[in-house]
Amino acid sequence: MPKHYSRKDFLKLSAATGASLLLAACGGSDKDEKNSKSESESESQPSKPTALKNSQTSSASSLQLITNTDAGYEELRQGFNKRINHHPAVIAVCKSSEDVAQAIRYAHDKNLAVAIKSGGHSMEGFSSNEQGLVINLSKMNHVKLLGHNRVQVGPGCTLSRLYDHLLPKSLLVPAGSCGTVGVGGLTMGGGYGLFARQYGLTCDSLLEARFVDGNGVIHSTKNDNELLWALRGGGAGNFGVVTDLIFQAYPSPARLQAHHFKARKLNTERATNILEKWFSFAAQLPSTCFSAFVQNGATLNILVTNSGVHSKELQALLQGLAKETDEFRSDAPKELSKVLKNYYGSLVPLYFKNSSAGLYKSFEDIQAFIPEVLEKTIHTRGMIFQVNTLGGKIADPVLEKVSSYPHRAYHFISELQAYWQHPKEEEKLTQVSQECLKIFQEHGISAQYINYCSLDFQNWQEAYYGKNYTRLQAVKQKYDPKNTIRHPQSIQPLYVPNKDV
Ligand SMILES: Cc1cc2nc3c(=O)[nH]c(=O)nc-3n(C[C@H](O)[C@H](O)[C@H](O)COP(=O)(O)OP(=O)(O)OC[C@H]3O[C@@H](n4cnc5c(N)ncnc54)[C@H](O)[C@@H]3O)c2cc1C
Repeated sequence: MPKHYSRKDFLKLSAATGASLLLAACGGSDKDEKNSKSESESESQPSKPTALKNSQTSSASSLQLITNTDAGYEELRQGFNKRINHHPAVIAVCKSSEDVAQAIRYAHDKNLAVAIKSGGHSMEGFSSNEQGLVINLSKMNHVKLLGHNRVQVGPGCTLSRLYDHLLPKSLLVPAGSCGTVGVGGLTMGGGYGLFARQYGLTCDSLLEARFVDGNGVIHSTKNDNELLWALRGGGAGNFGVVTDLIFQAYPSPARLQAHHFKARKLNTERATNILEKWFSFAAQLPSTCFSAFVQNGATLNILVTNSGVHSKELQALLQGLAKETDEFRSDAPKELSKVLKNYYGSLVPLYFKNSSAGLYKSFEDIQAFIPEVLEKTIHTRGMIFQVNTLGGKIADPVLEKVSSYPHRAYHFISELQAYWQHPKEEEKLTQVSQECLKIFQEHGISAQYINYCSLDFQNWQEAYYGKNYTRLQAVKQKYDPKNTIRHPQSIQPLYVPNKDV
């Protein structure tokens, strides 16, 4: 049975771990672990209690088409965010690329918009839709080790499942920390976590992908570098369904050490001062380190992780930051496979409204107005303002050329988070969240992370994709000219066929 978490529990947890990357809002379990097969191994196995409509699929197909009269529909239609409440007309549970192709052709026949769901963590519910067809990839969660430290992964594989398979073999694909996020959505939008400064974004490790386009035709990126470029950061629900991913894995560090700082009874002035010091501190960290600044009400938690050598220089930096906060402690270095689980989370879906609150180059980008934002977030129960480190390998100019992820020059990413327990609290928190985002936008903060999407962004095309938007539109034109695969902020073909989402 899912444990019910009160907000107090939740805030305690998020305070203890830091939010999003270290977010308590991670949930669910690896239910499909035992059923997992790689695509080549997959068998046709009707899952209970959902219904298999053989009349609508070919006899060789393992595709299941679920509608609201079928058992399982309610569970399948939900994502991780309880704020989102979509009712698709059909949920197509797929076990292979062929199933996906068949589902897309079915959607064409019925004139249904197609959304794609891997892990279901989209912050605006872009992996579902109202009365369209949702391709559910949760059963395509295989992990298979290939030669030369390459690993073949299904899009529905969760991050915990990926780490759990690779770490015992001393391998790692750099990814996010929340255990229930799906590899499919994370990679399509970029993907960062504790190891991104050392090894790059998750999409930077993507070597090859299998892809079903908006007409139901199966492709490989082996023959199309432009498609691979597009999928590395620009592929989330835009022009087709990624059904198989091959990643480069890296030797995993044996141990990770975490350092924790805390400041209590924050007011706006103190929070601003510590934030400024943190930016300067974080800019000097080696690439084996990750850091998060997490303001949660009047309490601040700062996490620093390090998978490399604990040098004298690092110790001096930590001591310097300790002078600004009330508490500082360092954990003993721990085996990676054990310590990562601290950040997996294991919670049920929650009510929340989280979004990117800008990518920054330095504190100067926000200096003029951040006190105005912190004044609101400190005094609004349920709100968290977090800034995380990027930079390091992510900023490698070589990666800029081969991927559509456009924000490599920004070494910091922020996230605005609002959580509530009862639907009646939504209005107030959503309003404060929108007021904060407005402050950022009015002060020229325009770069945003697609994986932290928000319907409140003006000019989302440039915010998410920068100068790459038009080039991505050409990919859309090639692979989904009829705009079958779509969500409210999906890339439009160059010549728009004008369908309602
Ligand atoms: C609790 C929580 C923790 C998070 N932690 C991190 C983190 O540590 N690092 C980080 O970078 N991000 C993090 N995120 C953001 C996360 O990366 C995005 O929400 C991501 O899109 C989730 O992927 P998913 O497969 O779980 O979601 P889904 O909702 O299934 O999909 C998200 C988007 O990707 C598209 N998509 C999904 N699968 C495919 C596919 N196979 N082919 C094409 N498009 C596809 C969907 O259409 C949708 O637009 C977190 C989010 C949450 C809610």
